[in-house]
Amino acid sequence: MTLKNFSRRSFLGAAAASAAAAAAPLAHAASRQNELPAKWDIETDVVVLGCGGAGLMAACQAFDRGAKVEIFDKGLSPYHTGTNLCGGLFTACGSRMQKADPKGKDDWKAFADDIIAYGEHQSLKEPVYGFTKHSGEAFDWLEDHGLAPHHLEPYAGHSNLRAHRQDSFKGRDYIDVLVKEIAARKLEIHHGCGLTKFFFDEKANRVVGVECGSGDKKVTCRARMGVVMATGGITGSPESLDRWVPSVAGKGVVIGGPSNTGEAMMIAVRDVGTPLSHMQYIASYPCGIVTHGRNGPYCRWWFISGQGGILINKNGKRFITEREGICHVTPKLASNPDGCHYILADEATWQRTLSKIKLSALVGLPSWTEERVLAEFEKGENLWKCDTIEELCEKSGVNLEGLKEQLKVWNEAVETKVDNQFGRTDQEWKLEQGPWRMIRMFPWNNLSCGGLRVTEEFQVLGWDMKPIEGFYAAGETVAGVHGAFYCGGNACGFAHTSGFMAGRYVTGYKEA
Ligand SMILES: Cc1cc2nc3c(=O)[nH]c(=O)nc-3n(C[C@H](O)[C@H](O)[C@H](O)COP(=O)(O)OP(=O)(O)OC[C@H]3O[C@@H](n4cnc5c(N)ncnc54)[C@H](O)[C@@H]3O)c2cc1C
Repeated sequence: MTLKNFSRRSFLGAAAASAAAAAAPLAHAASRQNELPAKWDIETDVVVLGCGGAGLMAACQAFDRGAKVEIFDKGLSPYHTGTNLCGGLFTACGSRMQKADPKGKDDWKAFADDIIAYGEHQSLKEPVYGFTKHSGEAFDWLEDHGLAPHHLEPYAGHSNLRAHRQDSFKGRDYIDVLVKEIAARKLEIHHGCGLTKFFFDEKANRVVGVECGSGDKKVTCRARMGVVMATGGITGSPESLDRWVPSVAGKGVVIGGPSNTGEAMMIAVRDVGTPLSHMQYIASYPCGIVTHGRNGPYCRWWFISGQGGILINKNGKRFITEREGICHVTPKLASNPDGCHYILADEATWQRTLSKIKLSALVGLPSWTEERVLAEFEKGENLWKCDTIEELCEKSGVNLEGLKEQLKVWNEAVETKVDNQFGRTDQEWKLEQGPWRMIRMFPWNNLSCGGLRVTEEFQVLGWDMKPIEGFYAAGETVAGVHGAFYCGGNACGFAHTSGFMAGRYVTGYKEA
């Protein structure tokens, strides 16, 4: 039945019988059904939507299994994606690099348990298991195809050494590999060609193709094997973030691939009837330096607190243990005056920090150079360098008496090794000598955790929780990986791994 003949026949039928009883199921069916094109503009085996880490991994894998592949993307380039903006942290279990490290003992279940525990048990185990079981293999593939230098580092929330970090701290390294591999396979990306419609055969419970484009320039494309939707999350603009997650409306920095508005998710709901889940959860790092509007870079304050710095609020008081996982810090900001917080360091703390990490990697990511950071300290709007605590409080508006009292309490906690405020036992250095440095931060909303539900093979679930034939999802558009809290490295790791596997499964690949 098409939408056109539905409106005449079913409406009359429903009127003749009981309107209320008949109209509801018919309306439901019609909303998930649409007319197939008389003739497809393009016919292919696999359609990939999105050209970030997830989409391009999927395209390469499907192609390597012999499929003809078409890639449609709403944006302008793979370098305009969330993946390109990423800080280059990719968690993986069982990679060659991890196996070669004496401290690299790990297994997929321990990895999955860490993700689920960090996310307050709100994760969906299917995407988590699909990720943790195959993450090492996906990372090795990137390495085999020329990934720039990287290392392993410990990361809060991970009980084992599995955070693979690009030495450049840049997601661009993954995109460089993938752009080269897409070109080697002579695959074309149709840019500026976002999804406008899914063609869904409801009887067969199968997605059979898509319409993509913009304005009056649209193409239909049949997908004989299926579609992999890898259209990212919803943090592309303040408007999209605030619409999907009203709890953060108007607050903090918003950063993400600029096309990532969640439009493709809405189209999936409209045309295929698939439900969305976990839309209320986003990763808001307590790290955003708000410079203009909802924009601004990022401060890795934990490198400073790891060397003796403390987190305080505008009252001059600590409000959390600095050892808390960073995404767990964010909800505590709601009760801080002005919803912001500060990292404070004395001269010795600052110098110890800079002996471990470059200034440009510590403050100002992703765009400030070292010179810009120094200039921001001079400017004194969000970053301050002052000889005395009095001057620091006067310039920043932090309460002087509160801070003086806090420093006394902290220095005693260092001396006695008893932190009566938040139970730390690892404090080593007193905060005593200027010049003092302090940086003000707000939430930095950078990735979303909601979207389509999938099986462990990344096949999308329909309204009845049954897998939809020919419909796969990968990357940030998948729901429930992180549960209530994202733990560092899992989003980039998940995007590439789910794309890697979805690109195989869509071609009929089965686990041995
Ligand atoms: C600044 C920043 C730093 C980050 N750092 C890390 C990190 O260090 N570690 C980590 O694990 N995670 C990190 N993340 C998150 C991680 O990078 C992303 O979750 C992941 O890369 C998403 O990959 P993706 O392929 O799903 O989406 P993207 O890379 O965003 O790609 C989505 C693609 O879909 C396209 N698209 C959108 N809508 C449509 C549509 N309607 N039709 C067709 N195409 C569409 C877009 O144009 C884009 O090409 C970070 C994110 C940001 C923003």
